[in-house]
Amino acid sequence: MSTSILDTGIKVVRNVSGFTVGRGSLDRLPEFVDARRSLVGNNAKVVYLVDGYFRSRPDIVQRLKARATDVVRFVDVVDEPTTDGIDAITDDIRRAVGGIPATIVGFGGGTTMDTAKAVANLLTNPGNAADYQGWDLVKVPGVHKIAVPTISGTGAEATRTCVMTNTKSGLKLGMNSDYTVYDQMVLDPDLTATVPRNQYFYTGMDAYIHCVEALAGSYRNAVGDAYSRETVNLCRQVFLGDDMMHDDARERLMVASYLGGCAIATSYVGVVHPFSAGLSVVLGLHHCVANCIALNALEEFYPAEHAEFRSMLEKQNVELPSGVCAGLSDDQFARLVASTVVHAKPLTNALGPNFREVLTDERVVDIFRRM
Ligand code: NAD
Ligand code: ZN
Repeated sequence: MSTSILDTGIKVVRNVSGFTVGRGSLDRLPEFVDARRSLVGNNAKVVYLVDGYFRSRPDIVQRLKARATDVVRFVDVVDEPTTDGIDAITDDIRRAVGGIPATIVGFGGGTTMDTAKAVANLLTNPGNAADYQGWDLVKVPGVHKIAVPTISGTGAEATRTCVMTNTKSGLKLGMNSDYTVYDQMVLDPDLTATVPRNQYFYTGMDAYIHCVEALAGSYRNAVGDAYSRETVNLCRQVFLGDDMMHDDARERLMVASYLGGCAIATSYVGVVHPFSAGLSVVLGLHHCVANCIALNALEEFYPAEHAEFRSMLEKQNVELPSGVCAGLSDDQFARLVASTVVHAKPLTNALGPNFREVLTDERVVDIFRRM
């Protein structure tokens, strides 16, 4: 049976409507913001959610040109977003703005960009963050929002989700909605120069891992494949090159992150992300480092990608945490298994509908023990 190369099985895909890219492009952000103010009223406030690192960089914060009446909040990235945390930030913003802001600027990594996405949706929709964990539950368009990534890899600047852990149930699931997609984006690679090297590698690898998983899967389409192939291509140039943090490399990785985000919106991940989710949910490891630890233990499913990943680690002289599952209890292993195999869609994409015949409890535990 032959299917069209455009037979995606994926519904209509929304992209970020406009963006600027290049070194120094941060200086165009005030233009984007002013355009919004002139549309909704010159007195409207603007909200800036800024990664906590930039507390130490008044030179950069000052380039945002926020007015004294605007609302600037620093987001401390100790934990990744939780539903309760998002609700608290939303309440604070609601009080500080006293209405609907002209736009929300999400300035930071995946954590800050996802926080801004969630807050933008909650300001126009009733209820709490937990009410919208799932697919297409957001009914009213959110507040206009602009992404300014300061670390590259997750693709959060381009995707239709914002990942949050439910404080009560532990469920890690985003608000998957067309309304979650950013309206505008400023891609300025100068901003990523200060990211610590290990963090830069782990987050950058998220783009690579999403796309090698997508390309190895069975739910494929020509658009997703095109985005994925170019993302992997750029990641190879960055991580197999001499210095992954050279000006040129940072620019390439910023583009890879964006294209990788577009790839996720049109395809599915595979075996690595479910194992990574287990590590995040049970052990609290952050998404990107957890992905690297997972891929490092999944050679049997991704032999070529695993070998390439090992060369990248070595070339960039990056350390990976080891022994993360040493000394865990049977109960913790059982929870690791449960929070991995629950991801039926990506596991089916990678291994077929009978993935549990391949990923038995024993085999999953054995893989975790190797991490
Ligand atoms: P992050 O936002 O968690 O930040 C990581 C660290 O880098 C933080 O300490 C931060 O302060 C620091 N940092 C950021 N920019 C910096 C800079 N320019 N200089 C110095 N330090 C800087 O990092 P991340 O890996 O981009 O994001 C992870 C989050 O993204 C997770 O919550 C994950 O669930 C989410 N995610 C979302 C999507 C999506 O589609 N929405 C996809 C993948 C991952
Ligand atoms: Zn990811």
